[in-house]
Amino acid sequence: QAKGNGRNGLRFFDPAMDAEVARRAALEHDLRSAIEHHQLELHYQAQVNGRGDTVGAEALVRWSHPARGRVSPAEFIPIAEESGLILPLGAWVLDEACRQLATWAAHPQLQRITVAVNISARQIQQEDFVQQVRTVVRRHGIEPRRLKLELTESVLISDIQGIADKMVALQLDGIRFALDDFGTGFSSLSYLKRLPLDQLKIDSSFVRDILIDPSDKAIARMVISLGHSLELEVIAEGVETEAQSSMLASLGCHRYQGYLYGKACAAPAFEALALGAAAAPA
Ligand code: C2E
Ligand code: MG
Ligand code: MG
Ligand code: MG
Repeated sequence: QAKGNGRNGLRFFDPAMDAEVARRAALEHDLRSAIEHHQLELHYQAQVNGRGDTVGAEALVRWSHPARGRVSPAEFIPIAEESGLILPLGAWVLDEACRQLATWAAHPQLQRITVAVNISARQIQQEDFVQQVRTVVRRHGIEPRRLKLELTESVLISDIQGIADKMVALQLDGIRFALDDFGTGFSSLSYLKRLPLDQLKIDSSFVRDILIDPSDKAIARMVISLGHSLELEVIAEGVETEAQSSMLASLGCHRYQGYLYGKACAAPAFEALALGAAAAPA
């Protein structure tokens, strides 16, 4: 059995590599059971406007492994994508996010909150994706315009027309689309005019050093001005300091998301935050 595919033959015998392969296999196995037994959880991270009001939430999946503790989505989402588990996982996330959205929609002060859900390439590539989304929206009776689907440029590497058609169908229902991690992929900018997008998300890698790195600032400025010209809302991810936020505001950014406004947290804590109650720090 092949234990690795590093170009360096020595890696074949690297015990760290063995451990890595074994960990992935174990995680895949455990993730399958976590999905079946509903052991995943959704957390919500605030998205705020220029006045600091919470106008939306991004749903982020959380997995507490019974033995390993919290496993980061940055680790298990790629495993889910490669194994196909992203399909049941993604279906659960969408359903749970819409269920939550329905309860907020019934709350006098939270009814205008939008919920953003991350969608992997393999999910939107499914032939019946549009139908799946419509079924979930109908099941929970939510207003489609409160739901935002976040895609990354990686969904665009194949069959861009097929993806665009699905997006148009859902957009006609009222559902909105954000382009996540914008600027980190390899696609050409021409797809921006072919896709019915509502929002560009400036990747956190451009926000982190925006005060000290002129290239990061130039990229953020470019994304924001592109957003203005194409009439797309621009949201910055990974905003951790007031200084980053003011810099982005001076460049014309519309929305902000990051630890400055709150980490992703379970729905009750998010509600406390959104209602302006003094939420205890986690
Ligand atoms: P993403 O969609 O770009 O989500 C933003 C990530 O940045 C989240 O990490 C969030 O917790 C983190 N973050 C937010 N604000 C800050 C900040 O101020 N500083 C720093 N250092 N980080 C911040 P998380 O939750 O670990 O998720 C990582 C990635 O995993 C997500 O990136 C997304 O690509 C994927 N993911 C998470 N949940 C789902 C899901 O339900 N479905 C799919 N397909 N992917 C998901
Ligand atoms: Mg996202
Ligand atoms: Mg992102
Ligand atoms: Mg990301």
